[in-house]
Amino acid sequence: MIFCATVDDVCYEGYSTEAHLTNLLALFQELGLPATLFTVPLAQGIPLGERSGYVDILKQAASGGHEVAQHGLEHDRFECGVPPRMIMDLPHEGPARERLARERDAIEAALTTPAIRQRLAQGRRIIEDALEIRIAGFRAPCLSICDNLFHALDQEGYLYDSSRHLQEAGWDLLNGVRPAIPRPITREIYDRLQYPGRLRTLPLTAEYTWYLTWENFDVTMDLAQHDFRACLDAGIPFVPICHVSPIQQGEDECGFEFYRRLADFARAEAGRRGEDLEALTLAAAAAKAPSATRAEASVQ
Ligand SMILES: [Zn+2]
Repeated sequence: MIFCATVDDVCYEGYSTEAHLTNLLALFQELGLPATLFTVPLAQGIPLGERSGYVDILKQAASGGHEVAQHGLEHDRFECGVPPRMIMDLPHEGPARERLARERDAIEAALTTPAIRQRLAQGRRIIEDALEIRIAGFRAPCLSICDNLFHALDQEGYLYDSSRHLQEAGWDLLNGVRPAIPRPITREIYDRLQYPGRLRTLPLTAEYTWYLTWENFDVTMDLAQHDFRACLDAGIPFVPICHVSPIQQGEDECGFEFYRRLADFARAEAGRRGEDLEALTLAAAAAKAPSATRAEASVQ
């Protein structure tokens, strides 16, 4: 059973600080989880290479077994697609909702494959030059996707994308929708999300620790455990997502306690089913995991 911890918004002002990133890496070290760190290449218009503090932390993380991957270019809401409804509904997305209502035609017209390829390549180069590493994977800011994004990623030779999601109920919890009924997670759904080219899709389940409160702790843990079991049953990687600062800016930093308990649960549950828990980066999971998935999908 593969468990891929993933982190969004590295370098993105308001949702990441160097101190928070350092704390979070210490948590993953404690839990024995390698993480995939989705980094914004040009956050607030400043290329990663000019942020020496982040460069040092990320270089050390990459040499210590974590993965640095690409999170858009500037983290504009519409630079590579349009965010799904559940994200546009979040309370802090008011300005994006207004912009979409005002400029939808222009936004969609700008999402051509060549334009997206150009933005992908620019962002990738910024990270690769700053850290002297190769980028394998991508996650879109605000999970904003469109068909052309996947064509662009495939044509640019990315190994995997992780912008799709499997568990919308995670955002029901954030949007105050009750009861938040878990959506089914199955191998069939996972296979359906796979791109027909070489690009591998590794969908995330949900964000469980966004400014988490004790009031929501148990109901969110129930959902995460549901999702882990469903991924185990489906034979697909479990890919939770957290954000650098929000996981430690909830009540009493209970996001960290959430991951401690989730990691314990995952090891125990996998063991109970006679499986080892393999904690991997997404790049390692993509290289290793379901190429058989596609063969099976095409045979059926
Ligand atoms: Zn983001």
